[in-house]
Amino acid sequence: MSRFTGISASTGAALGPFHVMAAALPKPSSIQSEYGAEFELDALSRAIKAVSDELGELAARATGEAQEILYATQEITEDNALFAEAESLLGRGHTAAYSIWEAAEVFKQLLTAAGGYLAERASDVTNIRDRIIWVLSGVGYPEIPLLDHGFVLIARDLSPADTTDLQPGQVLAIVTEEGGPTSHTAIIARTLGIPAVVACKGVVEAAKNDESGSVGVDARAGVVTFNPSPDLAAELTALTATIQIRRARKPLRTNDGYQTIDGFTIPVYANIGRLADTDVAIEAGADGVGLLRTELLFLDRQTPPTLSEQRELYTQMFSRFPGKKVVIRTLDAGADKPMAFITFPHEPNPALGVRGYRTITINDELLNIQLEAIADAAKVSGADIWVMAPMITLPDEAAHFVALAHSFGLQTAGVMVEVPSAVLMSDEIAKASNFISIGTNDLGQYLHAADRESASLAHFNDPWQPALLHAIHRVASSGSAYSCPVGVCGEAASDPALASVLIGLGVTSLSCNVSTLQDVAQAITSLSHVQMREAATAALRATNAKDAKEFAREHLHKLASLGL
Ligand code: PEP
Ligand code: MG
Repeated sequence: MSRFTGISASTGAALGPFHVMAAALPKPSSIQSEYGAEFELDALSRAIKAVSDELGELAARATGEAQEILYATQEITEDNALFAEAESLLGRGHTAAYSIWEAAEVFKQLLTAAGGYLAERASDVTNIRDRIIWVLSGVGYPEIPLLDHGFVLIARDLSPADTTDLQPGQVLAIVTEEGGPTSHTAIIARTLGIPAVVACKGVVEAAKNDESGSVGVDARAGVVTFNPSPDLAAELTALTATIQIRRARKPLRTNDGYQTIDGFTIPVYANIGRLADTDVAIEAGADGVGLLRTELLFLDRQTPPTLSEQRELYTQMFSRFPGKKVVIRTLDAGADKPMAFITFPHEPNPALGVRGYRTITINDELLNIQLEAIADAAKVSGADIWVMAPMITLPDEAAHFVALAHSFGLQTAGVMVEVPSAVLMSDEIAKASNFISIGTNDLGQYLHAADRESASLAHFNDPWQPALLHAIHRVASSGSAYSCPVGVCGEAASDPALASVLIGLGVTSLSCNVSTLQDVAQAITSLSHVQMREAATAALRATNAKDAKEFAREHLHKLASLGL
């Protein structure tokens, strides 16, 4: 029995044989081409076209978020900058394989330097490069096999294209050595409901040493065990059965939200970023939208979206939620989400630079137009529209944003608390705002000074870190003192056990991933508010994330019996 620990990226459990995806491609030799630049250029153009067509076909077969990711990957394949970089190397006599390898390296470095969301796209470039090289070598790309039994898929990393044809019944779980909780593998695994553990160091080597063995995956805890003992195997089998049975039952929702067994009601909203997400959110049983990330609607735009374009899109989205709350966030541009239509200053550290609300210092017109569009859409949509600004740092900024939103006729205006200074000034922020939404993803990274996308710093960004829990408690207390509702919309709210602790800490609403919303609702409806408060008090006593989780779970026994 050998045990490895990674990060839970999609909850659930599995037990069975495993398949290891092919090893990484070696770097092609830099020797000069025997056939000349023209031949290599032709070969490269054909290979790029073949890979682009293949990605297009995969995208056409996929749906939802996976489809969008694949079309975006196809676009990167066709990017002229990648081709031009490779072409210049071909001109120096190198082979097509070597040239595309080096061109991809340049691209990846640029993406990695940008950090965050863009850094995660570097793995897509690696996959495009590998696909092109496989085509050039005349050998097919090693796809995931179609076996006649279920298996756990173990890989160094997986690309969106690798995962398109994954069948939840066949792939019992995914375990990767690389990737983070926000990587594509994680997103797709959650969408398909496949348990996944990422950033699990050493797992590929161990799997290769014993390819005929079996593996147990407890994705709730991020634990992967090769050749589990009979006791552990029995435990995992029981756990998978429990999860299946639980997922078949939908928890009851009242008009105001989900109710604990002692009658405390808490609304559970969905985080969305695309028009298509609206239907998925409703289907998942959301009470409305707790975070509409508007920057995701316009990430690929070269020019700013116009007033009428925005008005139309927001109206369409809001109209799906008649009588329900929709919290829309103004553009959170900058850092890992640079937008072509805003000129950002050159910054050595964009995560600490001009992003979110701070972009008004370089372009206030954008915010004014967006607020006008939101106000117009709010008037006709029939939904209850709340608007908030990201990355608010000072109480004065909160007051300014709230006044500005009111001046456009938007009655309920609030701010995100995701910077430590805003936590320390939470009384003043609560007084200045109609509501607060805590962004635990950024708050975790800024509290611990650790990039939220970095796999090697992932433990700092564990949402169970006691410093983060204390910060949330402080903000919730300010909200309660000044009658300002405080929700959580970061990933912390998507973990059923942690969501229960957040309620115990005093937050008044949750907004989570649509894929885990039902799990969170099930946690709420099977616990009492008293248990949640006890769990929160216990977690606050911990000095590390592991203890915080353990101390809290001692008061949340029911969750284990539900496989949560
Ligand atoms: C957060 O920081 O927790 C948040 C919800 O915002 P985003 O993830 O979009 O930065
Ligand atoms: Mg944020």
